[in-house]
Amino acid sequence: MEKIIKTYSLHNFKRISQSSLLNNELIKDIEIVGRVLPFKTNNYVVDELIDWENVDTDPIFTLNFPRRNMLRKRHYDIVKKLLDENADKHVIDEVIKKIRLMLNPNPAGQEHNVPYLGEIKLKGIQHKYPETILFFPSQGQTCHAYCTFCFRWPQFSGMNELKFAMKETDLLLKYLKVHKEVTDILFTGGDPMVMSAEMLAMYIQPLLQEEFRHIHTIRIGTKSLSYWPYRYLIDKDSDDIIRLFEQINKAGKNLSIQAHFNHPVELSTSAVQQAIKRIRATGAQIRTQSPVLNHINDKPELWSQLWRKQVDLGCIPYYMFIPRDTGAKRYFELPLEKCWEIYRKAYRQVSGICRTVRGPSMSDAAGKIQVLGIQEINGKKVFVLRFLQGRNPKWVDIPFFAEYDAKATWFNQLKPAFGEEKFFFENQRYDLTSKNDLLFE
Ligand SMILES: *Cc1c(COP(=O)(O)O)cnc(C)c1O
Ligand code: SF4
Repeated sequence: MEKIIKTYSLHNFKRISQSSLLNNELIKDIEIVGRVLPFKTNNYVVDELIDWENVDTDPIFTLNFPRRNMLRKRHYDIVKKLLDENADKHVIDEVIKKIRLMLNPNPAGQEHNVPYLGEIKLKGIQHKYPETILFFPSQGQTCHAYCTFCFRWPQFSGMNELKFAMKETDLLLKYLKVHKEVTDILFTGGDPMVMSAEMLAMYIQPLLQEEFRHIHTIRIGTKSLSYWPYRYLIDKDSDDIIRLFEQINKAGKNLSIQAHFNHPVELSTSAVQQAIKRIRATGAQIRTQSPVLNHINDKPELWSQLWRKQVDLGCIPYYMFIPRDTGAKRYFELPLEKCWEIYRKAYRQVSGICRTVRGPSMSDAAGKIQVLGIQEINGKKVFVLRFLQGRNPKWVDIPFFAEYDAKATWFNQLKPAFGEEKFFFENQRYDLTSKNDLLFE
């Protein structure tokens, strides 16, 4: 039997039958904060993941529903006032636009990773590390539900989708033909798994040809296993998705699903467990990642449970991230020290099989920087850091030091330790325009 996704957002969330369990204050907060931050959820999340008896603290409710403290008080107050006054729509929209711009909508200089093919700027590609490109198919730029920690503008495209996909595929293939150093393509979004099987095949199948044998791994970054596991079970093209996955495997390529799970509850339903089984049976691997988030997964026990459960289900724990400085970051952020403590306390509770995970890691403009820990050297407390991925691959795995800072929540707040003026990589760090020279020197 097919299962139909019902999505809920600002205009219809009161129709959720469980919404009678929301008090007026929570409803008001959703209406105010939901104007600024993304808000979308669906019947699977609402019926199977959220514990409606405990909405005040429920992590999955927090993951999908806007809460008051996700906005700064002064922003909250402005929007509230305008709504209370029944202000003109244009006035409200202008104010909301301004607030959003103050929430750092494009963190970590990602625009610098967009490559060129001759004169053509390839807006759907990011190429930061030599071996992996990120590809953003235009039809995959939405999700089955939105995470409150992710800051996304609502994006819709009314174009002729198939034609557009063909044009994008064409550019992607041309780019790959001249970039033989690329071994991995990561389809990302949004969530590429919102696309139909047909659309996904249009992007992926050409990559299976002999000409692209330098591509070893196709990765798909997705939260669909958490938000809509029926994608792999009883959507109308679920079987086609599974066949496409099998085809990738038969063509001799690795298919790695980069699955986002933020909390053990997301692994608890029979739908997600069956979906994982079905994906694994195609020969695909599932690797998992999540940011460490205040109010959602800020306890070591949740992480050790998460990793153990993932391994039990045949998934490979991959990354723990520190949330980027964007959107509602203030609500979700934790000091770097706390992130490391959560990581380390969880890590020591699990066996080596779960210790494929790496983190906690910050995606800075320079690369992925892991907090290895805090140590005292010659009586000075310092952060020990290293690159897991670097804009320049030569930086990877070299330990370096930053002054201890109990409050720091992101790399840009850290200073080099021992009176050094700069971090060892900083002369090159801001030289983003000559990226390709750096990559291949
Ligand atoms: C994380 C990331 C990748 C993939 O890195 P892996 O360590 O190979 O998983 C690729 N590009 C960008 C921009 C990234 O942030
Ligand atoms: S699923 Fe991913 S892209 Fe979509 S809202 Fe969540 S974090 Fe953002």
